[in-house]
Amino acid sequence: FDDVKVYDPELAEAISLEIGRQNDHIELIASENFVSKAVMAAMGSQLTNKYAEGYPGKRYYGGCEYVDMAENLAIERAKKLFGCTYANVQPHSGAQANMAVFFALLKPGDTVLGMNLAHGGHLTHGSPVNMSGSYFNIVPYGVNDEGFIDYDDLRSIALESKPKLIIAGASAYARKIDFKKFREIADEVGAFLMVDMAHIAGLVAAGCHESPIPYAHVTTTTTHKTLRGPRGGMILSSAEFAEEYKLNKSVFPGIQGGPLMHVIAAKAVCFKEALDPSFTEYAKRVIENSQALAKGLMKRGFNLVSGGTDNHLMLVDLQNMGVTGKDAEKLLDAANITCNKNTVPNDPASPFVTSGIRLGTAAVTTRGLKPEDMDVIAEAIYLLIKDVDANKEKAMAMVKTLTDQYPLY
Ligand code: PLP
Repeated sequence: FDDVKVYDPELAEAISLEIGRQNDHIELIASENFVSKAVMAAMGSQLTNKYAEGYPGKRYYGGCEYVDMAENLAIERAKKLFGCTYANVQPHSGAQANMAVFFALLKPGDTVLGMNLAHGGHLTHGSPVNMSGSYFNIVPYGVNDEGFIDYDDLRSIALESKPKLIIAGASAYARKIDFKKFREIADEVGAFLMVDMAHIAGLVAAGCHESPIPYAHVTTTTTHKTLRGPRGGMILSSAEFAEEYKLNKSVFPGIQGGPLMHVIAAKAVCFKEALDPSFTEYAKRVIENSQALAKGLMKRGFNLVSGGTDNHLMLVDLQNMGVTGKDAEKLLDAANITCNKNTVPNDPASPFVTSGIRLGTAAVTTRGLKPEDMDVIAEAIYLLIKDVDANKEKAMAMVKTLTDQYPLY
């Protein structure tokens, strides 16, 4: 960073301000985390200089012997971590991983069942503004009135629409997902099952959420959420399935060019960290913190979709609080608490306004915060939403006490 400061002070200022923001804010965005210094060092390494189209041992460029070592480490560790026989660590992002699987298994126009975006699904699972929604015939499924995935309804929709692919996985779903049930339904209708475990990958790696690997034909993920690695994607499957459906070819040359070798190296570091027993302690603490935050909020009158959480996130329905998701995001930001507005099931407000916020504990847990600190955060959130003018300073002081007590890096 010193080199950036000397050469490019304007950019250095932006980076410094962002470092400051990360230090003095409580980060509750459920999809974010803080990587280790080793992950960051690998990302900032000389591996960024290398072109390596192809795969280890079969590259289209010379001089790849050392980046091959890095990619092989990432692949072998990913397979060990998740207990599978195939891993492709090249997708630049979660969206790329999903796109590669679609193009490997489907033809444009094929029917795909994906979780309704408004019920917690992801854009890449069939939103009309995404490639998935414009190339494929998307049929949505969702949650019941209690906020849980409605498996009976899912089965009826699958029997009726006869999809070629069913996608399990979400961006804003706080409950355990029953992958076995998804697979039974997929088998009944002759569909492939893809699990996008982006949000819960770290919990799966640590054994704190059932693994999709025994049930899914193919599993995709990001590496930067609960898994706490660099920003990127990955595809997991069995060696036989990957061979039959040419998953590698679908990534490169199908939808990507040269892999980001520095990011792949950082993925290798992340997987080594996740294989360490200390990562299991981390993942357990993420869930403890999430449940403590949920309890603290419910105690203060907040409604949570599904009435609680089994994982790292929760969806707060603000309709009884008289504020929108958009307002709440701003109110919390006034005292250095960062979150995102989020639609709740059957939301009367538009996606730009929303009636909810999504909160997650992966990042604050990395920082060291404990269940007792979650009650302080719940109180600060309550104070801000109740009366920001009267309570802003008090909430800000509570946040500062926590950020001082748990410094980053
Ligand atoms: N899949 C799910 C379930 C996600 O929540 C996300 C990101 O939020 C993605 C895919 C996309 O990942 P990326 O932003 O790396 O493309």
